[in-house]
Amino acid sequence: MGTSQPDATELLAQAESIRSAEPARFSALIDVLQKRRSELEPRQIEQLAYLEIYRLGFGGNYDAVIPRLKELIKSAQDSDIRFRANALLVNVYTKTRRFAESLRQLGAILPQLDQVKDPQLRVHALVEAAYLHNEIGQYPLGLQYAERILAEHPDSRARCFAEYLRFDAMRNMATLPEDKTPLQAAIAHCEDGGERLLANHIRVIVATAMASENKRADAINLLRSHLAEVESLRYPYLAVLVKATLAELLFERGELSPAESYASEAIALSGSVGASTQSLVSAYRTMYRIAERRRDTETALVYYRRYAEADKAYLNEVKTRELAYQIVRQETFEKSEQIQRLGSQNQLLQLQRKLETKSVQNTRLVVVLLVMLLASIGYWAYRTKRTQMMFKRLAQTDALTGIGNRSHFSHQSERLLAQCARNGQEVALVMFDLDHFKTINDRYGHAVGDQVLVRVAELCRRMEHRNSVVGRLGGEEFALLLPDMDLARATEVAEDCRQRISDIDTSATGHRFQVTASFGVTTTALAGYPIARLFSLADRMLYRSKHEGRNQVSAYEGGYSLPERRSGGPETAHADASRWETQGQEA
Ligand code: GH3
Ligand code: MG
Ligand code: MG
Repeated sequence: MGTSQPDATELLAQAESIRSAEPARFSALIDVLQKRRSELEPRQIEQLAYLEIYRLGFGGNYDAVIPRLKELIKSAQDSDIRFRANALLVNVYTKTRRFAESLRQLGAILPQLDQVKDPQLRVHALVEAAYLHNEIGQYPLGLQYAERILAEHPDSRARCFAEYLRFDAMRNMATLPEDKTPLQAAIAHCEDGGERLLANHIRVIVATAMASENKRADAINLLRSHLAEVESLRYPYLAVLVKATLAELLFERGELSPAESYASEAIALSGSVGASTQSLVSAYRTMYRIAERRRDTETALVYYRRYAEADKAYLNEVKTRELAYQIVRQETFEKSEQIQRLGSQNQLLQLQRKLETKSVQNTRLVVVLLVMLLASIGYWAYRTKRTQMMFKRLAQTDALTGIGNRSHFSHQSERLLAQCARNGQEVALVMFDLDHFKTINDRYGHAVGDQVLVRVAELCRRMEHRNSVVGRLGGEEFALLLPDMDLARATEVAEDCRQRISDIDTSATGHRFQVTASFGVTTTALAGYPIARLFSLADRMLYRSKHEGRNQVSAYEGGYSLPERRSGGPETAHADASRWETQGQEA
């Protein structure tokens, strides 16, 4: 445990915090971390890869940086690292003046901004946005992004950067405040954070502002007092800027020699900047003006040519930036147009789909309603039919005995008679009336009488022949209409029935007594098919049986006169039979 070596995580955090302020220490830390890679977690290894690329970029090796950043964007698992790599790519494109790519790259990451939780990362992207827009001369946008960064409560470094970008935009828009206190405060803030590069960039802004206010001496002093520091930073762009500015200021004060040396130093350093900058244009122009002032026409012409070339190249670059911005803006516009178009198409499709599903739903609803309606109509019809059938059955059957009642019997008989009349079939009618039934009621009670009626009805039903019709005509009077039967056969049936009735065992009623009935029989052979006539003749035969001692069968064989039996007498129950006869005669 002798070593007090900090752990790799700690070293990584240190490297992260000093990455721009202390390039040399940062680079050394990365070397150490590369050797201790095995101590890092996968996420930290991705972070280290990002910092390695960052270091590569710090050395100006941008051609190597771009493919490695793209690779990291593709391979990194950590979304924050991917976002940082994307933002760094914007930065590298901007630094290498590939503004169109830079703008496209920025356009790809800005929409993700709201999803980025780490405020540092959000600020990082906004810094790139502000920087890029200043670089392409879109100063109002650069200013907006810079102010947005400051509103996000950025860390010290980002705040320093944002303040520089804000003042840079303002200078270019000629909207710098007259009071330089905020600029001095920004310089102090950047220096406190060790951001000397940015502090000196702001210092150049202050110096040019002073010069425009005719405070050239103060401006020169300000820049000169930090020149050694600027040179120590080994950042040629800044050195060129400071020296070219100093040269111009000194020339305007008539100090040709120091102006010349600063200008030529700026020109010499410009080679490593690798682009036409405003500083280079300014340095050549100062050189040309110095030669001109010295009446060295030849040298003046040489520098004038270079100045003109540099100016042309710079203007070209300005135009290129402007064009890049316009191109990407157009692309973005088209893309958003396309997105909108696609969006409205999509909306239309969705609407159509909604409408379709709605109409399908409606159709379905209509079908369901129809089915329900049909079902309920069907059910209602079924119920109605069933009710009708029930009523019909109730209307047709005798409630006590369950056999057909008088009206049902007569309807069925009429149908059957009509049919048999057509076929020439003989039909017999057997009628009977229980003997002294009143006495049974009187002696054993009405309920016993009812039981007797039920038993007689059962017996009749059992005697039913094929197609025959049975009915209770009323009270204790019954009838059987027997198709395809002559008088002899019908008399036999009646005799059989009479026998069965007289054999009824009444013990189930709690009383033992004999039930008998008197029968009257006739057929269509003698009475014809009119129902009233059949009833009338059978009824008279029945009356004859009663008259001749009851419990017997009388068949109408024609020839002799029939006894009249009628109302007022004991056979009031037969009143209806005479009604039939009357109707039949009328018909
Ligand atoms: P007859 O031999 O002359 O036919 O004598 P009867 O007593 O049967 O004749 P009557 O016509 O005088 O009496 C019929 C009786 O049948 C009268 C009535 O109280 C009874 N009756 C009619 N319908 C019913 C019924 O549904 N239930 C019961 N228990 N009795 C009934
Ligand atoms: Mg009777
Ligand atoms: Mg009777």
